[in-house]
Amino acid sequence: MNTPDPESALSKPLKPGLYIVATPIGNLGDVTVRAVDVLRRCEIIACEDTRVTGKLLKHCGVSTRMQRYDDHASDRQRQSLIDLARSQPVALVSDAGTPLISDPGYRLVRDARDAGIAVTSLPGACAAITGLTLAGLPNDRFLFAGFLPVKEKARGDILSELGEIGATLIFYETGPRLERSLRTIAEFWPDREVAVARELTKLHEECRTGTAGELAEHYAARPPKGEIVLLIGPPGEKTLLSDPDALLREALEEMSPSKAAAKVSKATGLDRQALYSRAVELKSL
Ligand code: SAM
Repeated sequence: MNTPDPESALSKPLKPGLYIVATPIGNLGDVTVRAVDVLRRCEIIACEDTRVTGKLLKHCGVSTRMQRYDDHASDRQRQSLIDLARSQPVALVSDAGTPLISDPGYRLVRDARDAGIAVTSLPGACAAITGLTLAGLPNDRFLFAGFLPVKEKARGDILSELGEIGATLIFYETGPRLERSLRTIAEFWPDREVAVARELTKLHEECRTGTAGELAEHYAARPPKGEIVLLIGPPGEKTLLSDPDALLREALEEMSPSKAAAKVSKATGLDRQALYSRAVELKSL
């Protein structure tokens, strides 16, 4: 009752409702047959940027009118789309990939569902999933965490929070911030396997793997261009069940007890003061 007939896009006239339509993340050839059909036959396409979506529509020979929509849209704008979707098919796209995935749409879908509007989703490209399929990291469990925060403290907090989870972590990242993020990851987990998946589906697609430290060195020498998915493999036994003494001993080879305690505390979440006392003991042995 709350879902438009998924078959309708290729056969009968489109039923009224909200259609969430995934679009390509670079290669326009990745638009699906069903996406083109729905975009062509819906009443209006709500999109983040009419210039960006206009290029896709031109490529697909679609002339449906567009209306700008993002999560900063006023309640009135959102309500008018919902009112329209009661009687007409309304599509939502984002600039690239799957709407709502680090993109606008959450409030629209929520309000549409609350209003009893039929909502359906047309799957397609998503950079996080494309990166995961390419990286060669364990994928039985993964956690997508959106963009890594820009500020160092917030970035460290997220990494501490997610670090012990036994899953591959997936983040969106930008070229100018990549090296700094990799250096933070290297401080936390010098040994974990990391992948940088860049410019997916585009001409200069690349997926590079290594430790965060190795990748930071690589990208320091060759500042990366384009769009990036950053993946961190799950903790191995060594990092998950980290032996504080072993970590302290390693750190003490290069730094003072106080700095070693701070480093190991950051990496393990263990109490810094207790680690400091232990570091002083280890140093005197
Ligand atoms: N909704 C999109 C999706 O389904 O992937 C994501 C939108 S988010 C605003 C944009 C971010 O996704 C970029 O900054 C980048 O981190 C990632 N991204 C998008 N396209 C990409 C591509 N072709 N290659 C690598 N990363 C990409």
